[in-house]
Amino acid sequence: MDGGTDIKEIYENVMNILEDLTSNAHKLQEQVLEEILKSNAGTEYLSRFFPNGQADKQSFKTNVPIITYEDIKPYIDRIANGETPSILLAYRITQFIQSTGTSGGQPKLIPMTAESFEKRMYEPLLADLVIKRCFNGSDEGKSLYLYFIKPEMETPSGLVVSLYTTFYFKTKSFKTGLAKFCTSPIEAILCSDTKQSMFCQLLTGLLQRDEVVRMGSSFASVLPRSIKFLDDYWKELCSNIRTGYLSDWITDAGCRNALSLILTRPNPEMADLIQQICEDKSWEGIIKKLWPKIKYISSICTGSMSQYIPLLEFYGGGIPLVSPNYSSSEACFGINLKPLSKPFDVSYTFLPNTAYFEFLPVNKDGGGKAQETRTIDKPVDLVNVKLDQYYEVVVTTLTGLYRYRIGDVLKVTGFYNKSPQFQFVERQNVVLSIDLDKTTEEDLSKAIMKAKLVLEPLGIMLTTYSSYADTSLIPGRYVLFWELKMKGRDDLPKLDAEIMEQCCCIVEESFDFTYKSLRKGGVISGLELRVVKHGTFDQLMDFYVSKGASITQYKPPSCLKSKEAVKMLNSGMVGKFFSSKTMF
Ligand code: AMP
Repeated sequence: MDGGTDIKEIYENVMNILEDLTSNAHKLQEQVLEEILKSNAGTEYLSRFFPNGQADKQSFKTNVPIITYEDIKPYIDRIANGETPSILLAYRITQFIQSTGTSGGQPKLIPMTAESFEKRMYEPLLADLVIKRCFNGSDEGKSLYLYFIKPEMETPSGLVVSLYTTFYFKTKSFKTGLAKFCTSPIEAILCSDTKQSMFCQLLTGLLQRDEVVRMGSSFASVLPRSIKFLDDYWKELCSNIRTGYLSDWITDAGCRNALSLILTRPNPEMADLIQQICEDKSWEGIIKKLWPKIKYISSICTGSMSQYIPLLEFYGGGIPLVSPNYSSSEACFGINLKPLSKPFDVSYTFLPNTAYFEFLPVNKDGGGKAQETRTIDKPVDLVNVKLDQYYEVVVTTLTGLYRYRIGDVLKVTGFYNKSPQFQFVERQNVVLSIDLDKTTEEDLSKAIMKAKLVLEPLGIMLTTYSSYADTSLIPGRYVLFWELKMKGRDDLPKLDAEIMEQCCCIVEESFDFTYKSLRKGGVISGLELRVVKHGTFDQLMDFYVSKGASITQYKPPSCLKSKEAVKMLNSGMVGKFFSSKTMF
């Protein structure tokens, strides 16, 4: 059997598995819940909701409350401090997965068991194969995946805490599987110094440039950051390639060893070529120029990551952007079965065997604004969600989460067999708020997308944004931070006050009735737009990384809550503008 037949067979098997899973969504969901209840009904946490000892689906739905992290935090803390995990779940906890969400400044810790961890590895592999199937020849060649780890911590009871991806990159299964097809040596991925890791991953990616057929990262935010790093370091990278000598500041022993096997000789021809490409005044299509065989970029580009789409399209020069999957530290949700869909149209098909899912209907008004009112006591099952409706996802897992609100709002866009497909809408708790107004992540993103259209004909790109509610003044106002650059160059655009004010007005005009009436009533004052210079948001990422966030899992905050973060963005400010809009 030749290689071609092999891979075809694998693709066929994958599609058969997906057919099977999605056709039996209801049955699988029932089985998942039965298994969870059978194993865990006797735990201290769950048993109090089953006073008669009858832990069936009906009593689960009637008695077990829908919760957030704060409700189980006391149990997590007790386990972290040495009590038996059986207070919450029936299995031995092997580690805690740290989520990017925080609980009062502390990371959320999600229990993980060996079996669940093993099962989780399956989903990204499925997503990866579904994508490869869509791009001819992409099963050959290598992946320039920019992966980073975060140093592990330990709870007082000795349980290790880290990101899911950090644990995953350390598994034998990754090292002997996917890692073999990556240009980055495993030692560079596992190097905890992000700067050394990034340098070595880009260097090895460049050295193997003719083999690279796909590029990616877990979340899209890493890619512009990597291109910026390339911009700062390409001369040094070229010099390493030219001389065959690795920069001395790379002191990590693992990185040096690994590079000694790849950077084996001076290669002035390659260095010249890369230099020529990087010297180009415009970096439009730089990815395609540096890695000419790339077929697609695989990275989550939905939700808050969608702000990076224009920049990635610019650097990619037409290379398709593929969002592979939707998952969190708590559970895997679904994968993208249509990798070729446009980044803004991506939907994820839920996999019914990964957790037990329920959906809290979320009311949205005509303007698409999430309302406060939610019928939180009447969640619906996976197979009963309705087309075009909005829901907040609630999970029950084998790892101690029972009717746990993830906080993500999703919209049903279709069904694949019996499994619903969802578009990611927003994180529910991310809101700008002054007085009665609540402007959600989605409202903000839509308004900004409209306003930035004014800048595009002028060759100005909005590379990233954030916001906060400034209530230090009365009346308070919403403040936007925009990082702008000229298309093709990193130069700061000349800012025309009239045009920037127009942007402020368009944003305000796009906000909803509540905002406008509060503005009209003088309860909120005119929107402020602060333009920051290129690279300021990288500093913000560094700031969050220094506070314990991971570069791999980093989500740019759409709305800032920390004064330090606001101060940091203010330090890069090059202009501020105000809305002159009158709301009468
Ligand atoms: P973490 O637990 O730190 O990995 O963060 C998980 C959160 O990241 C989810 O609850 C979502 O808010 C967000 N997320 C994960 N995957 C996606 C996706 N495909 N699209 C949009 N947001 C996502």
